[in-house]
Amino acid sequence: MSKFLNPRLAALAPYVPGEQPRDDDMVKLNTNESPFAPSPLVAAAVAEAAGTLNLYPPPDANDLVEALAKELGVQKGQLLAGNGSDELLAFCFLALCPNGAAFPDLTYGFYPVYCGLYGVESEIIPLEDDFSIDVAAYANTQKTLFIANPNAPTGIALPLAAIETLLGQNPERLVVVDEAYVDFGTKSAVALLPKHENLLVVGTFSKSRQLAGGRLGYAAGCEALIEDLARVKYSFNPYNVNTLTQKAALATLRDAAYHDECRRKIMATRARVTDELRKLGFTCTISMANFVFVTHAGKSMPELYRFLRGRHIYVRRWDLPRTKDHLRVTIGTDGQMDQFLQAVRNFLEPGVSFEE
Ligand SMILES: *Cc1c(COP(=O)(O)O)cnc(C)c1O
Repeated sequence: MSKFLNPRLAALAPYVPGEQPRDDDMVKLNTNESPFAPSPLVAAAVAEAAGTLNLYPPPDANDLVEALAKELGVQKGQLLAGNGSDELLAFCFLALCPNGAAFPDLTYGFYPVYCGLYGVESEIIPLEDDFSIDVAAYANTQKTLFIANPNAPTGIALPLAAIETLLGQNPERLVVVDEAYVDFGTKSAVALLPKHENLLVVGTFSKSRQLAGGRLGYAAGCEALIEDLARVKYSFNPYNVNTLTQKAALATLRDAAYHDECRRKIMATRARVTDELRKLGFTCTISMANFVFVTHAGKSMPELYRFLRGRHIYVRRWDLPRTKDHLRVTIGTDGQMDQFLQAVRNFLEPGVSFEE
């Protein structure tokens, strides 16, 4: 730490992203990326756009926003594109939490980090013992709510009726619904926008649209909320979504069939893996995301984590009181998941010794 750092940031605990190892033979199931390559249309669009990189991108990402608005069934003025949904979430914490922010104890790890970065007071509302969200527990907070739906790292989803309850508890309170995993089987709260001015939906192309490296997120809400977020964006980085990403995302939207095929494969593989893991004695949450969240009554998950690592199979684990005995495993291809399941079976064999 230098002597120049603003003392307010001295105690900031930054977000720790999942590792990005680059072994040739690895099975990477630790950061909820898609195991599938982007649509072939993406490579062509990016190659073509490369020749225009001498110019700044359109700051409003007009073509992309127009196409995405059509896809989501909203007006152009109800949508803002961001450099990943992380950027838009950051704008929400910076600009839309005048009374503070409230969120569950187990949810996306970036929410408390943004509170620290922007000096936003947080109220942590614990999940139930089964990791579900008790909607009634939010009735009395005035703070802006951040609800990941489906939640991470549990994968558990709230029905739209529960989101409506949160919205109706207090129309003067903003509810931000983070829909990073919505395409894996949950209904989008975008459908509630016409009725609720206190709703902001944040989404991403990172998980279900094979574009984590492209960094594209979006926020959808009433025009006034989008104007607020645009005010921040134009005070921070007008060119937040680069040319290649704008073109790549547009190409992704043009290949709806591929998007659909990929997410359906993931959901089918998720069902199979959950089934297999339960047969092996694991407890799995009902995940509506592209990962499973698992524990095993008779086995150490930290040991399994290390065992898998030794075989270049990377999954995610947190050293937190409520989740230290859980693993979050991204759903990869069927082949990757077969390798994962085989390693798990080997681990469960009696008398296995753990080499790192
Ligand atoms: C992955 C993730 C994000 C961030 O997505 P990017 O668009 O890649 O920044 C946001 N929220 C949740 C819950 C996530 O899991």
